[in-house]
Amino acid sequence: MDMPTYTAVDAPVPEGTVVIERASTPQELGPKLNRTAADVVRFLMQQGEMVTATQSLSDDMIELFAAEIGADIRLVDPGEEQEVELLKLLQVDEEVDDETYESWPTRPPVITVMGHVDHGKTKLLDYIRNANVVAGEAGGITQHIGAYQVEREGQLITFIDTPGHEAFTAMRARGAQATDIVVLVVAADDGVMPQTIEALNHARAADVPIVVAINKIDKENANPDRVMQQLSEEGLVPEAWGGDTVMVPLSALTGEGVDDLLDNLLVVAELEDLRATPEGRARGIVLESHLDIGRGPVATVLVQRGTLGVGDPVVAGSSWGRVRALINDRGEQVKQAGPSTPVEVLGISEVAVAGDRFVVAPDEKTAAKVAAAREHWKRQAALGREAHAAAGGGAKLEDIFQQIQAGETATLNLVVKADVTGSLEAVTESLRKLERDDVKLSFVHRAVGGITQYDVQLAAASNATIIGFNVRPDRKARELAEQEHVEIRTYEIIYKLIEDVEAAMLGMLAPEFEEVVTGEAEVREVFRVPRVGAVAGCYVTNGTITRGSKVRFLREGTVIWKGTISSLRRFKDDVREVAAGFECGVGLSDFQDLKPGDIIETYEEREIPRT
Ligand code: GDP
Repeated sequence: MDMPTYTAVDAPVPEGTVVIERASTPQELGPKLNRTAADVVRFLMQQGEMVTATQSLSDDMIELFAAEIGADIRLVDPGEEQEVELLKLLQVDEEVDDETYESWPTRPPVITVMGHVDHGKTKLLDYIRNANVVAGEAGGITQHIGAYQVEREGQLITFIDTPGHEAFTAMRARGAQATDIVVLVVAADDGVMPQTIEALNHARAADVPIVVAINKIDKENANPDRVMQQLSEEGLVPEAWGGDTVMVPLSALTGEGVDDLLDNLLVVAELEDLRATPEGRARGIVLESHLDIGRGPVATVLVQRGTLGVGDPVVAGSSWGRVRALINDRGEQVKQAGPSTPVEVLGISEVAVAGDRFVVAPDEKTAAKVAAAREHWKRQAALGREAHAAAGGGAKLEDIFQQIQAGETATLNLVVKADVTGSLEAVTESLRKLERDDVKLSFVHRAVGGITQYDVQLAAASNATIIGFNVRPDRKARELAEQEHVEIRTYEIIYKLIEDVEAAMLGMLAPEFEEVVTGEAEVREVFRVPRVGAVAGCYVTNGTITRGSKVRFLREGTVIWKGTISSLRRFKDDVREVAAGFECGVGLSDFQDLKPGDIIETYEEREIPRT
């Protein structure tokens, strides 16, 4: 008797849209679509893709299989579905908010300034800030925390202090919208330029009202009419000509017209009917975040609803904590921050990511739980990308040109680490601009912090190059990279980084100077020596420390100072060098801020011959 052959292929596919996690394996995918893992493997084999039942599949493969059996699927990142559950845990309910909107008080508008380079965005932000600091604070010390508030005729306006559309777009890409109104700055002596159009398109895509500031009208060759003409051609017709776009001629240099701009912003804000409740647990967006020497992780957040208070348990992405202190845009400690207020938050566990939503949790335990769950899913997502890259190939920086030449579409896999979220976003945005039809970039992992073993493992598994901006690999990472032939490139200047990647794409990587680490010492204590100044008492852990050599000071993998070793002592004697296993005193010339646990790394530059 013949064995009945089970043909799962005939079973009906699930109705409706099935949610599938990216990088699922045939074992995971099959059952979700009423099929076996073997069905998936067999089908993909017919398509020329050799995969095992436990191997992560690329988006293409998953979609191909779904199409084959007629299933409707939606691909999500690992953790995306779980996020809905996490928001429930945090008791975030947006629908309730919508119903009660009308009953809430109005809130200050949040403004982002965009426009072409050199058209005066920074100057305008500085002028507004200096001329309109909130009453009673004139002449006070101001500090840049990423956003500030000014007062105009008793009403507050919040300005995001990073001009340009890069940050704006990066936030939107993460699903966060902080801006209510965009001020598009156009210089009257220069007119509409490429980035003017870019900014305009970004603002339109976000569906945010635009107010035009026609800047530099103090200049002799200023021609505001021409700007209005050019903008009309782009679909922004000034009110004066019967259109509906507010355009204010002004000078960020003399201040003429700036008040007019602020008044107009308030009018537009009123039309937008911006409201928020100051009641209840606060929610908002992380604007900036960095590791502050001495204060630990610091995040600047924009409160969007509720009131944030000292002592509140907060969670932002996978970072959490109890608010230890709140510092406003004037550097003052405050107890609370309400809607549309930017504040620095101290007390969180790690550097948050710009664009992350922050939420005050019902209690500290929930905050910790949600953060831990997100951390888990973040790692899963990274593993998924790793599998994806390993399955789909991809090249390192040094091989990319060969692939391009061979007529293949090359993918450059990158792991990017940077010192602060701002630079991480800037590096990523700039790199993305290098993409061409034949060269794609794939970001296997992006994060703030020093380069660790984990990054090297990930890079090795996904055939990626590690790019560090203002950060360095620790010793373990360096050794593993050597062993695994992972390329680590570190930069302190963004255009050098871009230049190198661009050159690699053109097959013209310039001779490279390799930095060879010659010595490493750990700071044990810092003391003052009369006439010499501050001296770091160190223990040499690796190589030798030599007087006169180049040196970097590192804290948790981040470069905090660079210079040369000017004085080196063993006990009371000046010495030329100190080898591993010995203690020594390193004189700190103009950098005094070392702490026990910091690392002193000396290095030499050697040219690497190109093969
Ligand atoms: P951004 O690149 O758009 O941020 O431009 P900046 O704010 O850095 O300004 C570029 C240059 O234009 C600087 O040298 C400013 O001093 C100058 N500038 C900005 N606004 C005005 C203005 O209203 N009048 C004049 N004459 N110069 C201005």
